[in-house]
Parts: sequence; C-alpha cells; structure tokens
Amino acid sequence: MAYDPDNIFAKILRGEIPCSKVYEDEHTLAFHDINPQAPTHILVIPKGAYVSWTDFSDTASDAEIAALVRAVGTVAKQAGVTEDGYRTLSNTGPDANQEVPHLHIHVFAGRKLGRMVP
Ligand code: IMP
Repeated sequence: MAYDPDNIFAKILRGEIPCSKVYEDEHTLAFHDINPQAPTHILVIPKGAYVSWTDFSDTASDAEIAALVRAVGTVAKQAGVTEDGYRTLSNTGPDANQEVPHLHIHVFAGRKLGRMVP
C-alpha cells in the first residue's frame, strides 16, 4: 500500500495536530492513544513513512529498526510497567483492522489483560 502523507500519525509527526508525547528520539515518537483500551495505552511509531512491517523491514535503516524496538522497552520502563507486565500489539492491513496506515506498536498495561486471541 502506498503511504498516505495525510494520515493522522503523519500529521502528528509534522506537528499539525497535537499528541500527548511520552518519548521521542531521532527515529521514533511515542504518545498516548487518544482512545485508551487500558490504563496505559501508548503508541510507538517510526518517524519514517512506513505503512507496514514489510515496508519497514524492506526499507528502513538498521538504526531506525533498532530505535523502534528500543523505544518500546524505554516507554514500558518509563511507564513503570515492566514488573507487572505489558502487551505489545501491531495491526497490519485490513484483515488486522489497521485503522491508521502508518506503522505503529500499541503498548497496553496497567490491568490484567485478557488472553490473546486471534
Ligand atoms: P490501529 O487500529 O492498530 O490502526 O490503531 C490506531 C490507533 O490510533 C487507535 O487505537 C486509535 O485510538 C489511535 N488514534 C487515532 N487517532 C489518534 C490521535 O490523534 N492521537 C492518538 N491516538 C490516535
């Protein structure tokens, strides 16, 4: 799928709409989900224009890939949820109901999470 530069996360990255930022580095931004599904619900996104994991793994630099993975761990530590635990989830494409066509990882925590089901 071609990247839509008008998707909501692209607008957040350009500063056109606000977000509740929790972490930022050269390659990555993390912010609170606007419609939280758990007491902690953070989205971690690459700054580059990637829709899916396939786009990302095909074209992102090793530094971007490392930064995204590290950011998830950093965000969990910052949120104070590493001991009780947290869940990461990433929807890709229509069958997974990806709503925003910019790659993102959800980080859920702060309550007992239900069992994962497909
Ligand atoms: P998806 O279904 O995995 O694509 O998840 C998209 C997520 O983006 C949803 O959990 C939305 O609540 C969240 N979201 C949509 N717009 C905004 C926003 O402007 N700020 C923060 N989160 C957003």
